[in-house]
Amino acid sequence: TQLPPTFGEALARHAAERPEQVAMRFDDRVTDYGTFDRHASQIANGLIAMGLNKGDRVAYVGKNSDWAVELALGSARAGMVLVPVIWRLAPAEVDGILADSGAGVLFVEPAFARDFAVDQVIVMDDSFPRWRDAQSDAPPPVSVTEDDVVLQLYTSGTTGAPKGVMLSHANGIRQRQKQIDGRVAWLLADPGDTTIIAMPYGHIGGVGVALGAVNSGQELIIHAEYEAGAVMDAIAAHRVRRLFLVPAAIDLMLQHPKAATTDFSSIETLSYGASPIPLPLLQQAVERIGCGFVQVYGMTETWGSIVALPPEDHLPGREHKMTAAGKALPGVELKILGEDGNELPPGEIGEVAIRSPNNTRGYWNKAEESAKALIGDGWLRTGDAGILDEEGYLYIQDRIKDMIITGAENVYPAEVESAIYGHPAVADVAVIGVPDPKWGEAVKAMVVLKPGATADQAAIITHARERIAGFKCPKSVEFIEALPRNPSGKILRRALREPFWAGHERRVN
Ligand code: ATP
Ligand code: MG
Repeated sequence: TQLPPTFGEALARHAAERPEQVAMRFDDRVTDYGTFDRHASQIANGLIAMGLNKGDRVAYVGKNSDWAVELALGSARAGMVLVPVIWRLAPAEVDGILADSGAGVLFVEPAFARDFAVDQVIVMDDSFPRWRDAQSDAPPPVSVTEDDVVLQLYTSGTTGAPKGVMLSHANGIRQRQKQIDGRVAWLLADPGDTTIIAMPYGHIGGVGVALGAVNSGQELIIHAEYEAGAVMDAIAAHRVRRLFLVPAAIDLMLQHPKAATTDFSSIETLSYGASPIPLPLLQQAVERIGCGFVQVYGMTETWGSIVALPPEDHLPGREHKMTAAGKALPGVELKILGEDGNELPPGEIGEVAIRSPNNTRGYWNKAEESAKALIGDGWLRTGDAGILDEEGYLYIQDRIKDMIITGAENVYPAEVESAIYGHPAVADVAVIGVPDPKWGEAVKAMVVLKPGATADQAAIITHARERIAGFKCPKSVEFIEALPRNPSGKILRRALREPFWAGHERRVN
């Protein structure tokens, strides 16, 4: 199969080949591919009529919805750039992203409507379909190519302020073509397959899933936001075949009473990634849900996954591979860079660098950061520390910025968190480096206990000591109510670190 080069054309092809197939389900609204295709053209024409031009930014603030997906395809077909903003962010953060994006128009769900410093604001109430349906459904007179930017997606802001990543149609489509050519059957969806979007639209694990569904001609079940029980109901009711969840969402699923009775048998692959997964959680999930698990590694800058750990590496006998993020997908090259920027041999830890058709052309408005990340010849530096083994498996250690240097040793928090997470009293854990007069930095664990459970510092440290080297074990443990996480479920270690570092200088990587 040869895929069309742009998302607008992918939608048109599915509409022509299977107009009556369901494209989207949201609450009680069902949209087939024929209707979806007409709506996309109407929205494109509506945007043009508002005075917008090819390349202009179209912002969206709201939860996941069929209208949000239509807006993505309408703006794509008009050659414009969708900027989906995470609704969970504080108003000042949303305003910061809107200002940075340069969007001339903002579509906002009624629940989030307020004053915005954007030229045109459209509240997406019942007037939205009226506005849409009043436009012509003729294909808009714009020529869109695969190198045009389709998304400007902000990074999760885990290590600093979110950065606007420019992503082209080719970034989202070329690698799927390589997967088709390379017959990566365990990742490829067929037209009519069912998938769910339950992760936030403003992240690649949200909007990327929606655009991927259009690309493959899937039936997309849309959940406004993640609710574990509702997602399990939908999996069973719609016989979902493939889906993506972040580790924190899988954890919520397993803690939910419905996990014991849900029929997961339709799931062929459940992809998980975006943050490290504690091994005990992964083992529980594999046992309980029982489908093919696929770890994926990637980032906003690479339109999501570029490395994947296939289901067979989750089976008994392959446990030694279960701590790997996986192998490069077809068309993706990986290398590990030393501090001097030279490539390191297998087995050595360094910064992961990626060359792939998914790679962004750079950050919007951030020439300096772009130059730092795009090191030439198509390579992108990730800011993640990792190791490649002889077979090409990539082991992500953690973010270089979160690495703890204690004495002369480097400690990666994810490994320590994984060791502590298995303690029966522990519900959640984050590990950070705090200033220490003797060691420079000392390892500290912030632990959330399960309701009613008790454990003291010594018990946590002993549990860790039985699993990892002494220098990696926490020197101190603090018990807290909850961990700060961003909307992608990532622990905000910098927020936890901050109070300890007041008046100290922490090295920058
Ligand atoms: P910011 O760049 O603003 O600090 P962010 O890096 O969290 O935020 P994303 O692009 O959403 O923003 O996340 C990409 C990062 O997520 C990767 O660089 C990596 O650190 C982490 N990540 C993704 N997949 C995995 C995985 N399978 N295992 C461990 N970490 C992962
Ligand atoms: Mg990042």
